[in-house]
Amino acid sequence: MNTNDSFAIAVLPGDGVGHEVMAPCLAVLEAAAARIGGLSFRFETHQAGALHYRDHGVALPESALEAARHADAILLGAMGWPDIRYPDGTEIAPQLDLRFEFGLFAGVRPVRTLPGLTPILSDPRAAMLDFIVIRESTEGLFVSRGKGRVIDDREAHDTLTITRAVCEKLFDSAFALARQRKARGGKGLVTCVDKANIFASYAFFRKIFDERAALNPDIAANHLYVDAAALDMVRRPWTLDVMVMENMFGDILSDLGAGLMGGMGFAPSADIGLQHAVFQPCHGTAPDIAGQGKANPTAMILSGAMMLDWLGEKHGRPQALRAASLIREAVDSIYREGTQPCEIGGGAGTAEIGRRVLAALGSLPMTV
Ligand code: ATP
Repeated sequence: MNTNDSFAIAVLPGDGVGHEVMAPCLAVLEAAAARIGGLSFRFETHQAGALHYRDHGVALPESALEAARHADAILLGAMGWPDIRYPDGTEIAPQLDLRFEFGLFAGVRPVRTLPGLTPILSDPRAAMLDFIVIRESTEGLFVSRGKGRVIDDREAHDTLTITRAVCEKLFDSAFALARQRKARGGKGLVTCVDKANIFASYAFFRKIFDERAALNPDIAANHLYVDAAALDMVRRPWTLDVMVMENMFGDILSDLGAGLMGGMGFAPSADIGLQHAVFQPCHGTAPDIAGQGKANPTAMILSGAMMLDWLGEKHGRPQALRAASLIREAVDSIYREGTQPCEIGGGAGTAEIGRRVLAALGSLPMTV
């Protein structure tokens, strides 16, 4: 565990752009810690992912898993590659294995638009969005991963699982997050996203949500069917605060959220359990742009800031919380000053964006 204010971080860069965006993220974390003072990291990098599977026959080596288990937090780039698959044809996705292994039930995916970028939606109320998609990350339809059945080339079955134990933890964390945001001026609202009008599993999900809502009367609660939620994320996203949903729905709607921010390269995330947490961008390995220096590292850098928030809260370390705020300020400032990543048609590639965030970190006044 952490000694003084030095945190042990297991670093799993993974495949494709995962490697490319990790380097600037680590540099930014080091620089923020140096600027704040009284905070440092012991990064331990491990290879894992599709290329590791191709070369060594194992996607997530035991040594990487052990390092992740004993670290204070885990930073992950992205894993998987289209042509490298398990014999049954499924993708190599150790990031999913980590979620199951460590019980990382809450996939927290902020949708926060950055200043200075052309808004995706024209309504002025959508210019500065700030809401959260929480994707349950250990059950739902993903329980069926690797267990689906195809019968006689005639039909196929995958089964969705919802459990009370996971739902209670999930909803409690959603209400706690809404409460934290309310203390900083947020709406204090949790929206349960489901399809309770059609499926028993989602009706059960909603029933447990209502039970937990009753235990959190200081926070408002409402429901949206998933189709209506997709509509509202585009039609009136400024009305949203914390949305909580089953794994598959969260997989889809969090990409819609990334679209509202400008693209996958802007969308950070955290997979949080009771003991462990993995911080990684919402995006995959982006094979179409890998190796070209064009990947936007913003999502990875902001995921690093989420890691600092989590470490700061968990261990009561204000330095970590201040470093997280400083990183977000630095990212905001480079966009406010006109940075345009390749992802949205500009000229700023991975290294350039990393350099700009580092420069901003060094020059920002210490107001946080
Ligand atoms: P996964 O299923 O592993 O999440 P995916 O196949 O859905 O991955 P991504 O790898 O996330 O897809 O890529 C989706 C699109 O977003 C691609 O066009 C890719 O180039 C783009 N993209 C992803 N990450 C970034 C990034 N960091 N910077 C710029 N563009 C990105």
